[in-house]
Amino acid sequence: MQRSKYMETLKGGYAVSFEISPIWREAFSLAWDAFCRGSVPVGCVVVDGEDRILARGQNAIYDDEIRTPLAGTNLAHAEMVALSKLRNSEHNPRLYTLYTTLEPCPMCFGAIAMMGIKQVRYAARDAMAGSAALTAATPYLRSKCIHLEWEDSPLEVFQIALATAFELNRKHPKQQQLLELWESDCPVGVHVGTALYQRGDFHTAVRERWEFEQVFARVMTNSANVREIGRGGGLYEDSAF
Ligand SMILES: [Zn+2]
Repeated sequence: MQRSKYMETLKGGYAVSFEISPIWREAFSLAWDAFCRGSVPVGCVVVDGEDRILARGQNAIYDDEIRTPLAGTNLAHAEMVALSKLRNSEHNPRLYTLYTTLEPCPMCFGAIAMMGIKQVRYAARDAMAGSAALTAATPYLRSKCIHLEWEDSPLEVFQIALATAFELNRKHPKQQQLLELWESDCPVGVHVGTALYQRGDFHTAVRERWEFEQVFARVMTNSANVREIGRGGGLYEDSAF
């Protein structure tokens, strides 16, 4: 699969490059668009066996204007929006793979099961609402044989950084609990998301209509300057951060 390279030069003058596949690029572009439009930053694409994109979705729970009948409702999660575009008369979801930037919640996991999707890949774990564990929750769900795969890549850092910035801005009552749970899996993502939010980088990116690649490179560059100390999740920032 063709991969794109993105580069950003650090303060010290050396460059860091990152690669991302076209499918993940599309999913994260949708997540970034959702962020810019004031909804939860999650994106989703469904592909066939030849990696052709058949359906796209982005979270639109606060977005009445985006084109989906679910817009502006609590059903408008990225996965639900994408799955709602697959017609029984045209599609065979059993052969498809769903890519989502964040581990599916119980609602989306249920929809994935009922649609007959067998393969799911997600970029970031969600210790709050993530429901990958439901694959074995009941005899019925076990019979579905859904294979969920966490990608274990820098994409998790980007997703958690973006989601952290969104939650700091949204000021949800469960914000602290949410950030602590995400930090348990991905401390760098929460740390970088918080730092860039407080520095105003996300506001600048939205105001100046940055493309996904530009935001991705900014988050990754700053992540490269942070390293974990020990298993306790403590973080160290070097002078370039
Ligand atoms: Zn969901």
